[in-house]
Amino acid sequence: MKFSTILTFVFVGFMVSCSSDSTTNDGWAKIVREKKTVDNITYYFSSTIDVDRRNAAIKECQQSVIDNLQLINETEFTNQMEVEFLASRKEMLKYTGMGAQGMAFPDRNTFFTLLKDKGSPIKHEMMHMITTYKWGSPPRTSTWMNEGLATYAGGICFDYSFLEIYRYFMQSGKLIPMDELAHNFFGHADIISYTQSAFVSKFLIDNYGIEKFKQLWGEGFEGLETVYGFSKDELERDLATYVMKEHPGEVEFDWEEFNKGC
Ligand SMILES: [Zn+2]
Repeated sequence: MKFSTILTFVFVGFMVSCSSDSTTNDGWAKIVREKKTVDNITYYFSSTIDVDRRNAAIKECQQSVIDNLQLINETEFTNQMEVEFLASRKEMLKYTGMGAQGMAFPDRNTFFTLLKDKGSPIKHEMMHMITTYKWGSPPRTSTWMNEGLATYAGGICFDYSFLEIYRYFMQSGKLIPMDELAHNFFGHADIISYTQSAFVSKFLIDNYGIEKFKQLWGEGFEGLETVYGFSKDELERDLATYVMKEHPGEVEFDWEEFNKGC
């Protein structure tokens, strides 16, 4: 997950206080991390995080497994994996190479996440882990489905529905053509590509079921017509027709605010 690129280093105070002990021990300062394993997942936290907050985060992870499995119509999730809770985007950059809010590495059985009360990336990242374990790594032209499904599952920190967001992209000429979304996902503004993909994913799942979605995920965008029986142009027309029927009038939308991300 990487939409919104504004960096917030809220833990600067903590980092300063860490080094203040250094005079007492020849420059060495202790940094303690603690872990807890529940079922198949081991959770790592800084010891500075309250145990109550840790337990709440573990609950959030467990609930995200339940919700995500239900969304993709799977029942069991037993892969051994680890969740590393980091303090800031700066730490995230150090450990993952990206200053994101969350980063999933299914091939390393690990995901990294910030602890957030609002707009938490946990469910989004957990979806990346679960789908990759269950369905395999998607081909490049299914990146939009990978991010779309995770964004649909995880939600966003705005009150707009994905349909309203899509309607706004339509009325403002911001919509990315499906072909572009599939072949050049990262060539577009994250805030548009992620949320548009979330809506298209939701539309496909709601109307045609998860099995076809899973099949297209595996085949890549070239398989659209074989799997669904319609072309990308027809898909775009169907999306537009549906959205205009559900929301004929223009959406009142604060693009400036939305564009800042979560
Ligand atoms: Zn993601």
